[in-house]
Amino acid sequence: MSDLSSDELRALDARHVWHPFTQAGTAPPAILARGGKGATIHGADGREYLDVCSSWWVNLHGHANPMIAKAIAEQAARLEQVIFADFTHEPAVRLAARVAGHLPGDLDRVFFSDDGSTAVEVALKMARQYWSNQGQDRRVYVAFHGGYHGDTAGSMSVGRSCGIFAAWENMMFPVEVAPFPVTWDGDEEAEAKEQRALLALDEILERNAGKVAGVIIEPLIQGAAGMRMCRPHFLRTLEARVREAGSLLILDEVMTGFGRTGEIFACVKAGILPDFVCLSKGLTGGFLPMSLTVTREFIYEGFLGTEVSKAFLHGHSYTANPLGCAAGLASLDLLEGTECQARIQAIEAIHRQRLPGTARHPGVSKARLCGTIAAFDLAGQGYGGALSTRMKNAFLEKGLLMRPMGDVLYLLPPYCITDMELHRAWDIIDGVISHL
Ligand SMILES: *Cc1c(COP(=O)(O)O)cnc(C)c1O
Repeated sequence: MSDLSSDELRALDARHVWHPFTQAGTAPPAILARGGKGATIHGADGREYLDVCSSWWVNLHGHANPMIAKAIAEQAARLEQVIFADFTHEPAVRLAARVAGHLPGDLDRVFFSDDGSTAVEVALKMARQYWSNQGQDRRVYVAFHGGYHGDTAGSMSVGRSCGIFAAWENMMFPVEVAPFPVTWDGDEEAEAKEQRALLALDEILERNAGKVAGVIIEPLIQGAAGMRMCRPHFLRTLEARVREAGSLLILDEVMTGFGRTGEIFACVKAGILPDFVCLSKGLTGGFLPMSLTVTREFIYEGFLGTEVSKAFLHGHSYTANPLGCAAGLASLDLLEGTECQARIQAIEAIHRQRLPGTARHPGVSKARLCGTIAAFDLAGQGYGGALSTRMKNAFLEKGLLMRPMGDVLYLLPPYCITDMELHRAWDIIDGVISHL
């Protein structure tokens, strides 16, 4: 495909490309990826990397999955894009109906956008306008400590407590932040933490009575905060509190969606009915950027009328891109299949088998597991700190693509990973941490 050598490509990258979440002043040159197959990324240098972070949590069925690649190619030859105001198309209609079919209750109305940040932005904007359309001045948002919801201004605001947005303080609106009852396997304080979190939440809801537009949470697992988990029980109590306050519950399932928690969605696992669900990362199996904000029928009806100003005047150039929708449908075909469901079970079983052994290493604490995600803390790290960078490099050295988040090591593999590959990943982890 390319007549440029790897060295030339690296030089052009160094000259022209600005990489995300990277301090280029100290980071080593980016690894040049040539291809991928299954859970493995092939480097141009001939090395292989076992991708146990699913390339930032997006990949479900492996790299360059042939079924999804074919679905995209066929769609591209038929219809690549069409304006989504006034027009609709089969892949969008089918994807919306299919995702709605997996969600509880009347979560039936699907709004398309481009990535996790915009899915959250859309939910925040819909919640606010829903209330103003009803003649209610509810404009306060409640979020949870450490929560991350994306990098656009609104999603930064509700994620302001995650601690990486200091440079944009002026761009964020104020948000009420409640404690997130972080727990782990065998945590005896879980109950007490939930009680404390609920007390704080109650205080916030009372102080803002009649003013809360919505409460947003990453259900079961706060991803970017370091795979911090809470119990399903907390979410059920939260749902009841939000109902009592007459407000709206927004679930940011951008990371937890599409099987990561062992169920197709965290809200299904927790048995709750939110008012909005934000989906993105796994939606297209990791092929194309796309997202959905799914909401309930009464919200949609709250925007109907004769005035244009009552409508949701929001959209993006590529809203409901047919290629993304085709990828999403192919990914769902795979996800719903018995083979993938069996892999999800197998991944959880291997995590369950291996995590206790890893947890016995000195310095390891707070071992936790939810579906296909396993995580633990390692004493003495620190975000981007010397040791966590050294550890990332030690893993890369052994052909394992992991990105420690501060003190936290986690596995979030694509579902296609084989038993042998997953055991190898755990072996490498045990080896690296026992040499610290
Ligand atoms: C990644 C993530 C986002 C942001 O998604 P982008 O596609 O990166 O904009 C939002 N919420 C959660 C929970 C995420 O993990």
